[in-house]
Amino acid sequence: MSHAAPGLSIARTVAALRERVAAWRAERLTVGLIPTMGALHEGHLSLVRAALAQCDRAVATIFVNPKQFGPKEDFAAYPRDEAADAAKLAGAGAHLLFTPSVAEMYPDGHATTVSVGSPLTEGLCGPFRPGHFAGVATVVSKLLLQALPDRAYFGEKDWQQLQVVKRFARDLDIPVAIEGVPTMREGDGLAMSSRNAYMSAGERRVAAALPRLMNETARRIAAGDPAAPALEAMSASLTSGGFTAIDYVTLADGATLRGLDRAAQGARLFAAAWIGRTRLIDNIPVPPVGAP
Ligand code: AMP
Repeated sequence: MSHAAPGLSIARTVAALRERVAAWRAERLTVGLIPTMGALHEGHLSLVRAALAQCDRAVATIFVNPKQFGPKEDFAAYPRDEAADAAKLAGAGAHLLFTPSVAEMYPDGHATTVSVGSPLTEGLCGPFRPGHFAGVATVVSKLLLQALPDRAYFGEKDWQQLQVVKRFARDLDIPVAIEGVPTMREGDGLAMSSRNAYMSAGERRVAAALPRLMNETARRIAAGDPAAPALEAMSASLTSGGFTAIDYVTLADGATLRGLDRAAQGARLFAAAWIGRTRLIDNIPVPPVGAP
């Protein structure tokens, strides 16, 4: 166990993590877990603050999980800066950073995958990122069982991931409360993401159209327009605005993730689109027709 910044310790092994959490438990302190891949921004820190509002101790994890990246995805290029991340976590009041090596998480012979079935993983990002949610479910289930916190915090920005985590935690009887935290956005509405750093200044200006068009489209559907033409118009506007590829623009139920053709209670608008080599995702609620 080492100290990176005032108040923040670092654990690199499961044994060190468990030792620290056990000491807290012996003092009857409650523990919140915040799994991340690092390159931390205010969105991640809002999860730390949510944990500290409900728990006595906050444990952040940083692990760039090779199992959730496809062979053509950005695992090698993913931004890594442990010292900067540790300083941010200390500033937000986190108590412990758990940052294991790949060998610590997946020792030789590791052969078990946690995989959540339909319909949660068959739509939205599922078809575009084969194996991604199994990689997420495998690593998050390990982190939950390694730390055994009272609560674990996930961003609503990755809505499908949040539903997948809630489902396997329930299905596997993992005794941890899964908490969703609202999306933190930049001044122009773009959802904060570690991958935003990949964009050039010009691409970043193009990106602002995504939240703007999502809000417009959500308003249109909430006013009673059928979804299909509104979603098609949004895709066309993204393309004419400089997005280079659209994976999906979809209206779906927020709990089941099944597609919807009109606004309904619990409906959300979901989008994933590319600007050059940067893939952006976002989602927002769509109130039922007639809601104030
Ligand atoms: P990542 O490091 O991208 O894997 O994200 C770690 C956690 O932070 C996940 O639960 C994300 O959903 C959450 N997160 C990422 N971006 C945001 C954001 N803009 N607002 C709130 N939570 C976020």
